[in-house]
Amino acid sequence: MRFVSRTTRSLLEQSREQLLRRRAAAGTLGEAFPYVEQIRVELCFTASESTAPAAQRHALYPPAPAYFEFACPFGDCDGSFDLNGVASPLLKKAKSHVDGTIQCSGSRTRSGMPRQPCSLRADYMITAQYQASSAQKG
Ligand SMILES: [Zn+2]
Repeated sequence: MRFVSRTTRSLLEQSREQLLRRRAAAGTLGEAFPYVEQIRVELCFTASESTAPAAQRHALYPPAPAYFEFACPFGDCDGSFDLNGVASPLLKKAKSHVDGTIQCSGSRTRSGMPRQPCSLRADYMITAQYQASSAQKG
């Protein structure tokens, strides 16, 4: 039986842990945006060289962290898609949706090759639902 040393953690693991820590520190959606009922995030990936990963759908509710960063779906990539700068203004202005394209800024360690930029593109769509009763208050 073999054991993997816990002291030699990869950079990949460390960056994923940092993402989780930032997420945990962000507080909940319900605290940051009390009038938000549900947020849906859709990511459709476009890869230039390899097969694109399957599209992702995330549904976020008030108890969820108010944090919109999604790890790159490539398991060997240390990058992520940071949609905080898109989602926060959307929710502050109580708009219904926003879409656009974002590119992964991470790098990948493919077997036998040096680290290469990932450059995976994602078309994103964020849809927000608000509580009708409280939207006009304040
Ligand atoms: Zn990536």
